[in-house]
Parts: sequence; C-alpha cells; structure tokens
Amino acid sequence: MRMVLLGPPGVGKGTQAVKLAGYYGVPHISSGDMFREALAKGTPLGLEAKKYMEAGTLVPDSVTIGLVKERLELPDASRGFVLDGFPRTLRQAEALDELLAQLKMPLDVVVSIEAGRDVVVERLVARRTCRQCGAVYHLKFNPPAISGVCDRCGGELYQRADDAEETVRRRLEVYSKETEPLIEYYRSRGLLISVNGEQDIEDVFEAIKARVAQV
Ligand code: ADP
Ligand code: AMP
Repeated sequence: MRMVLLGPPGVGKGTQAVKLAGYYGVPHISSGDMFREALAKGTPLGLEAKKYMEAGTLVPDSVTIGLVKERLELPDASRGFVLDGFPRTLRQAEALDELLAQLKMPLDVVVSIEAGRDVVVERLVARRTCRQCGAVYHLKFNPPAISGVCDRCGGELYQRADDAEETVRRRLEVYSKETEPLIEYYRSRGLLISVNGEQDIEDVFEAIKARVAQV
C-alpha cells in the first residue's frame, strides 16, 4: 500500500496515518514529525526548519524534497508507506511522482480527509503531542489516561507552539494557497478518494479502509 493523506492541518492525518500504517503493515512517514525530531536533536536541518515551523509557513521545497526522498529510499519503504504532510506544494507532488517512477513504486491512492474550518481549529488548539514519541492526543476528543502523560511511552505531553491560534490561522491560509490545489492534481490522475473527516476517529478510519478497498 502506497498512500498519501491530504487535508488541512488538524483534520486528523497523523491520527489516521498511525492507524492505517499499522493496519497495512507499512511505515508512517510524516515530514512534520521528521522536522520536529531534527529540531529536538538540534541538527542543522532542524534549526533551518525551525523559523518556518514557528511562523506557520512551509519549509522550502529544496529542503523538504531532499529529506523525504532520503526517507523513501530506505529499505522499509519498499513495502509501502503512508505519507502524512507531504506533498504540500505542486513542486513537491511532481518531485514525488518522479522519485516514485524511478523507484518503480507508483502511488496507489491519495486520501483527501475533509472537514470545515471551525472543526479543524477546535482540534488544533486543544491538540497535545508527546515530546518523546510524537503521539497525538486531544484534550476533549482523544484524551490520555493520565493528564499530561503519554499512554504509549510515559513521555510528557506539550502544546506545539504552532498550535497557538494566531499561527493556526496562518497555517490554514498556507494550506488553501499551496496545498489545496493538490486535490485537483490527484483527482485528474484518477488517484483521489475523499472521506468525511467530521466523524469520530474510528469512523473516519473505517471509512478510509472501506473506500480504499474499492480502489
Ligand atoms: P493533522 O495530522 O491532520 O494535523 P492530527 O491527527 O494531529 O491532525 O489531529 C489534530 C487533533 O485532532 C488532535 O488533537 C487529534 O487527537 C484530534 N483528532 C483527530 N481526528 C479526530 C476526529 N476524527 N475527531 C475528533 N478529534 C480528532
Ligand atoms: P505538520 O506536523 O504536518 O503539521 O507540519 C508542521 C510544520 O512542518 C509545517 O507547518 C511546516 O512548517 C513544516 N512542514 C511539514 N511538512 C512540510 C512539507 N511537506 N513542506 C513544507 N513544510 C513542511
């Protein structure tokens, strides 16, 4: 299974990507997680990405494409993958097509998860993320068993700086301008399926599996 998840920030791509990667037995590849890990380690890549992430804008294509390319060339991605947060620009989508053609592993499906602006804002401003393993929670919709503590690894939960309301607004603007056109890009290639993201986490998961099984 080679799948891309598309949708605005906060729609639930990361949440679904973890479940889908487990279900299909393929790696979950998140460009945002890769940048946050690089930043936590203080690598030059992380420091370069920091200013864009904090501002809610996109890390330049030249940096992002190279990073994801290296990840997709690792042996485990030959089994398949769930890509989350990449591509986010037309140039990234074209670079991905070229790379996957070279590797002789074209995409099977692109899932567009859809939800209105108010829904994604409500999800983002109460998102909590594990500092250690990156697991994602929501204070109301998907709370951890113990407040502030990751169920999976016991790590500390924090609020991403870019989930502050002001930055969320910027990220949604960037999504509309840079990323939303990819829906048409993939629809015209016959790869797109759309799923209602305004349902409970389990219902979105079931809907994606059912739609993908028909492809
Ligand atoms: P994305 O990766 O698209 O930015 P996330 O998967 O991080 O989105 O989800 C954003 C927030 O919304 C998180 O706090 C997550 O727990 C919560 N969430 C995800 N899917 C749903 C859903 N279907 N219903 C309610 N909350 C959700
Ligand atoms: P995410 O975790 O997907 O919400 O991404 C967090 C931030 O990382 C984004 O707001 C961007 O600054 C950066 N980022 C992640 N993926 C990409 C990408 N494909 N292209 C450019 N920037 C990205």
